[in-house]
Amino acid sequence: MSVDLEKIQQAVRMILEAVGENPDREGLLDTPKRVAKMYAEVFEGMRIDEEEYFSTIFSEEHEEMVLVKDIPFFSMCEHHLVPFFGKAHVAYIPQGGRVVGLSKLARAVEAVARRPQLQERITATVADAIMKKLEPHGVVVVIEAEHMCMAMRGVKKPGAVTVTSAVRGIFANDSAARAEVFSLIKD
Ligand code: ZN
Repeated sequence: MSVDLEKIQQAVRMILEAVGENPDREGLLDTPKRVAKMYAEVFEGMRIDEEEYFSTIFSEEHEEMVLVKDIPFFSMCEHHLVPFFGKAHVAYIPQGGRVVGLSKLARAVEAVARRPQLQERITATVADAIMKKLEPHGVVVVIEAEHMCMAMRGVKKPGAVTVTSAVRGIFANDSAARAEVFSLIKD
């Protein structure tokens, strides 16, 4: 399904009116159009299947850990529709030569983040997609993010960082493997 730009524009006009603004004043005239375009962009992930990124598999006899750190991402909290953003770290141990291009890990994070989201769900969705498509020995996804809904409203704690992790496969059972990946992420 494609984005209904017209409907977003109407909604933005209504919000501006509802907060007491005049949507027809000069500075706001093109705002509904700009906001509609922005939403289409920041919610682009609605129309992407993250599992597609894991269908190109290179046969590589590598069964040691692969870690891509500090993948920047931007998302929108589904409770307030304000941004949260930070870094994702994705690690996995391939099995049977099933390895993907490193950029695909970053692209999957981006696709999953560009939806109305919860940080916990991004973390689990990326980990589960890798487990399902690559059947690796294990996966760890860690996300650190700052939430604008905690910074600019409500509890008003700018700078607070929320950390979530999803641990799958061997990392769930092997504490040495888990300690190794977490220390590499922290470095
Ligand atoms: Zn929120």
